[in-house]
Amino acid sequence: MFYVGIDDTDSKKGMCTTYLGALLADELSRYTSIKPKLVRLNPNIRWKTRGNAGICLEMRKKPKGVENLVLETVEEYAEIDDSNTHPGVVFYQGDKVPEEFSRFYEKCLHEVVTIDEAENLAISYGAEICKFKKGRGIIGALASIGSIFKDKTYELIAYREKKNWGKERKIDKKSVFKMNERTFPLTFNNVDNERILIAPHSPCPVLFGIRGEDPETLKRAFNMIKLGERIERKIIYETNQGTDAHLINVKRISDIKPYSSVILEGEVNSLPRVIKGGHVIFTVTDGSDSIECAAYEPTKEFRHIVKKLVPGDKVRVYGGVRSDPKKTINLEKIHVMKLAEMYREENPLCECGRRMESAGKNQGFRCRICKTFKGDKVRVKYPRELEERIYQVPPRAMRHISKPLVRELRTNTPKSSCA
Ligand SMILES: [Zn+2]
Repeated sequence: MFYVGIDDTDSKKGMCTTYLGALLADELSRYTSIKPKLVRLNPNIRWKTRGNAGICLEMRKKPKGVENLVLETVEEYAEIDDSNTHPGVVFYQGDKVPEEFSRFYEKCLHEVVTIDEAENLAISYGAEICKFKKGRGIIGALASIGSIFKDKTYELIAYREKKNWGKERKIDKKSVFKMNERTFPLTFNNVDNERILIAPHSPCPVLFGIRGEDPETLKRAFNMIKLGERIERKIIYETNQGTDAHLINVKRISDIKPYSSVILEGEVNSLPRVIKGGHVIFTVTDGSDSIECAAYEPTKEFRHIVKKLVPGDKVRVYGGVRSDPKKTINLEKIHVMKLAEMYREENPLCECGRRMESAGKNQGFRCRICKTFKGDKVRVKYPRELEERIYQVPPRAMRHISKPLVRELRTNTPKSSCA
C-alpha cells in the first residue's frame, strides 16, 4: 500500500485541501485504485477559521513518479503566499499503517501536537515528509494516514470550473430541499430551516458537498441537484465527519484537559444566565468541582432550551474545551437525563372549583361565593418545558465532526448511547 497525506494548503481567501485531493485522485486513479479519506481533527484548535482537516489517499500500489506529481500539485495550488498557510505532505509505503500512526491520529483528535512530534514519528517509521514554509501541515497529513474510523460517513464534493471561483454559486435551492426530502436521513445537514447548508460561502473551488451514510445514496442525491454552472470534477471521500470521533467520556471535571472534547455527566448547579453577546452560561457539578457550560450565540434556538435548565437537573453535556483557565465547555449537545421537580405555591381551591382569595395578611383564604375558609397555600408541581432527551445545536452551528442526532439514533454506538 502507498499512502499520501496532505494538510494545510488552504486559506480564508481560497483553495481547499480536498480539491488538491480530488485533482490527484483523478490523475492517479489511472494507475491504481484509490481510497480518498477526509479526516477531521481536533475542532478546538483554531489555526484557521475553517475546519481542521487533512486528507489521505490510500493506494493499492505506488504509481511511478507519484511524489513529484503530489509536490508539484501542492506547489501550484496551495495558498503558499498566505502567512497562515504552512502545507505539509507525508508519503508512507507499507503493508499497513503502523499502529503508532493510528495512536497519533487519536492524539490529534483530542490534544495539541507539535510539528516536531509529527516529524520524529514519521521519520522513525521511514515515512517521507515534505514541509512547505513551517510545514505545520505534516501533523494533519500524518494523522490522516494513521486514521482508523470506528464509525464513518461519506461526503461527495463537487468542484467548480476555475473561471467561476469567487463568483456567486448557481445552485437551485428548491432542488436541494427536494433532494433532502428524498434522501434524509441517509444524507444529513443539507438544510436548516430556509437555508441550504451544502454550499460554502468562501471563494474556494467547492461548489457543494453532500454528506451521507453511503456512496450510492450520495450519487443519487448528487443527480437531484439542479445547477446553473458546470462542474469541473467531483469526488467521494470516506470521512469521520458526523461521528463524534472527537468526544471522550470523562468521569470527573478535574480529568478534563484543555483543547479536548468531552462527555460529562453532572448536575446543574446554577441558573442559566445570558451574558453580553447573547451567550447562555450555566454551571454543572460532578459533586466536587463545578464547570461552566456555554451555549454561544451562533447556536441560536439551542440557547432557549439551555435557558430552561434549573439547579438539580441531571444532565450529560457534550462539547469542546478551550484553553481558558476556567475550561468552559462549548456545548454541542446536551442530554437532559432527569429533570428536577419544581413546585410553586398557590392559593387553595374551594370545593366549588374557584380559586380562593387571601382573607388578609395571615388570615388564610376564603371563597367569596361559598364563604368557606382554608388556612394554607398549597404546593403545586410546576410544569417543566423540557423533555428528558438529547438536544443538539442546529445544523448550521454544528461542527463537521459532530454526530447529528439522526445518526445518533441510527448507529447508537456505546460512546454516545441514549439512555
Ligand atoms: Zn366556593
